[in-house]
Amino acid sequence: MSKDERNFRNPYARLPACLPSSREKASQPPQVPPELSVRLLAALEQTLVECDSAYRHAPSADTSVYTGTSGVALLHLHVATTLHAEDHRKSREHLLQAQSLLTHCLSRVPSHSITFLCGAGGPLAIAAVVEAGLGNTDKAKSLLQQLKELYTSNKSRFSQLPSELLYGHVGYLYCLLFINAYLPGAVSQSLLQEVARVAVEAGEKGRQASVPSPLMYTWHGRHYLGAAHGLAGIATLLLQLKTEQLPSPLAPTINYLTSLQLPSGNFPSSLESCHDSSHHSDRLIHWCHGAPGFIHLLSHAYQMLGEGRYLKAGEMCGEVVWKRGLLRKGYSLCHGAAGNAYTFIQLYHLTGHTHHWHRALKFAEWCLSCSERVTRTPDAPLSLFEGSAGVAFFYCDIIMSSRGKTPFPCLEIPQPKITFTCS
Ligand SMILES: [Zn+2]
Repeated sequence: MSKDERNFRNPYARLPACLPSSREKASQPPQVPPELSVRLLAALEQTLVECDSAYRHAPSADTSVYTGTSGVALLHLHVATTLHAEDHRKSREHLLQAQSLLTHCLSRVPSHSITFLCGAGGPLAIAAVVEAGLGNTDKAKSLLQQLKELYTSNKSRFSQLPSELLYGHVGYLYCLLFINAYLPGAVSQSLLQEVARVAVEAGEKGRQASVPSPLMYTWHGRHYLGAAHGLAGIATLLLQLKTEQLPSPLAPTINYLTSLQLPSGNFPSSLESCHDSSHHSDRLIHWCHGAPGFIHLLSHAYQMLGEGRYLKAGEMCGEVVWKRGLLRKGYSLCHGAAGNAYTFIQLYHLTGHTHHWHRALKFAEWCLSCSERVTRTPDAPLSLFEGSAGVAFFYCDIIMSSRGKTPFPCLEIPQPKITFTCS
């Protein structure tokens, strides 16, 4: 398939408000037109009803956050702690829905993986927060203990894992950062640092003599570079530890990654694809592989390290996602228009330039009306990362953008409007 066949032509490309030439600084928080806001809210509610009904009638064997039941529980938690944070009754209703979905998951969490997105860590972390939110402190404490023991009870097994986000070290690190976002201080800095150190040491061992990056990793034999399986995702998690002293190999690793940006603004999915002479390095505009995953790394790098090259590279990501980000494959968070739209949310909050916000709104409009355009039905059509729950998460974040930055789920640390305690 040629790269042109992977995406629709962007029908909004000539809209004046969406052009970088119209660059202006926002003087007020981003606004959603009232009619669009009504449609986004209705779609969000409708998706929640469909998901709850489907999972109640036929509990899924897949308990993961990525494609299974826990992902819908996370959507409920997100709505409870952002959109309805100030409406105690509605917030509690969503926490109770999440609790009900998680009851099924906790009895069958996967034993082969411990990460947030694809392993036991996600259901345990979400359940700990939900139980704390419902005031069930002892239950929350017990779940938190189980989550910590995934690492502490078998550290040597942990060190043997890969390091990437979906199945590896930083996928577990995300569980701990997620807990501290909702239950401040529940995970110690020393535990966070210890887990991060395992990931850094694995990257130092994986270093390639021929590649000028102090950290390098493989997953299934390939040197992946993107957010889901690769170096960009690992570095994004390590940057978010926000320690005064970053691991010393991190900045040169990010500089190396930035140097791999292609003339289009996209990034290759793996080192192996860089050596592909048939343009395969510039194929995918996905959160999982390509520029829509790198934007989050570049944004955190710019905020932490302050170098303009990261912002420039981030703006280039925005251009290629705008041109080629309306995918025929679908509208999901992982490889679809909703996940790609977080590129513009990220750039808007980084720069305050209104054309990024207009682009995010156009991608939301596209998702609202895209069901008849999508050429492939996802394997998990209601799920968080491949289906409609993720699109609903994006709608919630568009609505909430007037209240501040809305992080990419399961990669960036959440910013709930209310927090809980389990002590
Ligand atoms: Zn994907």
